[in-house]
Amino acid sequence: MATLKDLRGDQPTWCPGCGHFSIMAGIQKSIIQLGYEPHEFAIISGIGCSGKVSEYVRTNGFHTIHGRSLPVAQGVKMGNPNLKVIASGGDGDGYGIGLGHFVHAARRNIDMSYIVMDNNIYGLTKGQTSPRSEHGFVTKTTKGGNKEYPVDPVSTSIANGATFVAQAFAGDIKQMTNMIERAIEHKGFSHVNIYSPCVTFNKINTYDFYKERLTAFEKPFETREEALTAVRAHDGLVTGVLYEEKRADYQEKLGIEFDMQSCTNGEMNEE
Ligand code: SF4
Ligand code: MG
Repeated sequence: MATLKDLRGDQPTWCPGCGHFSIMAGIQKSIIQLGYEPHEFAIISGIGCSGKVSEYVRTNGFHTIHGRSLPVAQGVKMGNPNLKVIASGGDGDGYGIGLGHFVHAARRNIDMSYIVMDNNIYGLTKGQTSPRSEHGFVTKTTKGGNKEYPVDPVSTSIANGATFVAQAFAGDIKQMTNMIERAIEHKGFSHVNIYSPCVTFNKINTYDFYKERLTAFEKPFETREEALTAVRAHDGLVTGVLYEEKRADYQEKLGIEFDMQSCTNGEMNEE
């Protein structure tokens, strides 16, 4: 069984207090508590402060390009179904340029997890309005306040067929780790959106902002409609597993039974 030492990669360079530290710890803790070895995982990340997670958690990994963690991660899973695959990235990365991939990954239902570090801002490039920034949000790119309304991540994945949808808060590591563990063990596409305060550039969506507003749900809703209604009634400020469904994943639908042993023996290319 892996230890924390096994799973430690490069020394994080995130700002002290950044929510991403908790998410990294939650991923490491989940791998340990579920009894996996580091080599059984592949973490595929996008670009942004969040993208560094594939270097900070020591498993197989690939730091890809902006918004493209999902297509690469799906390819990794199709190429080696024995790997547990986690795609990870930020809100600007995944809900901006990567939004099309997100919707298609949700409906495709490949057996993998997508963990989004949602800080409602572009952190790495020093604080511009992101697709998750609130209406009216003032940054250096929206000096008169954001004129757009934010993407609703969990409603998007629920509405587009994801078979596991959860939301968590980096300030509640116990609940967040539980969501990550359940996502990893879910068979099919699992999406966990995690509110992860950027303490340096976002002075609105702080730890206190979330502590004062979040409503936790103890169990998933029975239907997608009920889950969507609850999320919207709380303006997206909810945590918990919101929806879960058992459904054949993409590879089962294709009837693929991948034999890693024969692949390793070089038999894959034989007629
Ligand atoms: Fe975290 Fe924001 Fe610092 Fe990036 S800029 S490491 S998101 S606190
Ligand atoms: Mg961001």
